[in-house]
Amino acid sequence: MNTVVLKFGGSSVADNIKLNIVAKKIISLKQEAKNVVVVVSAQGKTTDKLIKEAQELSAIPEEREMDMLLSTGEQITASKLSILLNRKGYPAISLTGWQAGIRTNGVHRSAKIEQIYIDRMEKELEKGNIIIVAGFQGVDENEDITTLGRGGSDTTAVALQVALKAEKCYIFSDVDGIYSADPNMITMTKKLDEISFDEMQEISDAGAKVLHNRCIQLGKRFHCDIVAKSTFSEGSGTKICEKIESTQIKSITKNEKLVMITMKKEQNISEKELYDIYETLLQHNILLESFEKEENRITFRAEKAEQNKVQELLDRKYPDYQIMQEEFVKLSIVGYGVIQDNKVLSQTIAILKKHNIEIMDIYLTQAQIQILAKEIKKEVIEELHQKLINFSTI
Ligand code: ASP
Ligand code: MG
Repeated sequence: MNTVVLKFGGSSVADNIKLNIVAKKIISLKQEAKNVVVVVSAQGKTTDKLIKEAQELSAIPEEREMDMLLSTGEQITASKLSILLNRKGYPAISLTGWQAGIRTNGVHRSAKIEQIYIDRMEKELEKGNIIIVAGFQGVDENEDITTLGRGGSDTTAVALQVALKAEKCYIFSDVDGIYSADPNMITMTKKLDEISFDEMQEISDAGAKVLHNRCIQLGKRFHCDIVAKSTFSEGSGTKICEKIESTQIKSITKNEKLVMITMKKEQNISEKELYDIYETLLQHNILLESFEKEENRITFRAEKAEQNKVQELLDRKYPDYQIMQEEFVKLSIVGYGVIQDNKVLSQTIAILKKHNIEIMDIYLTQAQIQILAKEIKKEVIEELHQKLINFSTI
């Protein structure tokens, strides 16, 4: 029998009313005589709340304990959904990551899935059960609970699709697919019917938290298409698949959640110190976007959410350094078209120049132009979107 994997994000399972909507979707697929495996996120903002509460107890809580804590969010959703489906007469069973056979490495808070032992899931499917797996978690070789990084339930879903050789994987959320820009910011956004894995990866790296970037890597590697859809409407969503290169610009994203951190001291910084700082940041799972050293200063980009953690850590470990933080924005223009024609870059630069945007840096990647600046106002992005996407002629 064909298997489908469905993943429901935090806003889709936020309360009992929404759980009922989700249950209906699951039941309708089950009625098509399919094996149904569901992956769930924590309800609403549960994970944020748990992180905040832990940080009130300790500024730098142990990563292992954080995983123990954060994994509970998904377990609550899984058991509630299973209770509901059973009551509606559809046999279901909830499983933790460990019970579902998800083995990861031991890197707490950003663990990678190494192996999935599917025996238990196969048994449950044979019994006719709908399986509800707590997303975002696994267990390492010491049997300690690990989590896969923020937004990691998407990766659980695609990994299960690969392991179970499922015919489809639907990622349900409160938006009906992938858009050319954030509809909350830009007026005339387009919903994309299809997008390639590479372009989706660039959008995700640009900071749009639409899909966990590791789930896109998995989909590409194992040739598993992913469909992003809405829980609350019937649209066809966006298919993320292997696509022949097209010259269109697909999306414009602005990421405001970054800070540039500078560490400065009187004397020159030795190589040994540099390695030490780098290792310290990595050990604390601080996502570094770039790391540069110039005589007596080091700069790197980090997530704004980690701003306080980084400050605290550096102040404590490196008291002879002065630490400075500066907020900035990253604009990403994504689509294979960016590297096929200089016109996109010159049009972009012309618009930024017209608005007197002070550019800090420009990077070009396979399918992306990335621009760093102190600030880029909404109207500038609106104009770029209008010119590069709505009236794209390349
Ligand atoms: N609950 C986790 C988070 O908020 C994982 C997920 O939703 O995918 O990051
Ligand atoms: Mg998500």
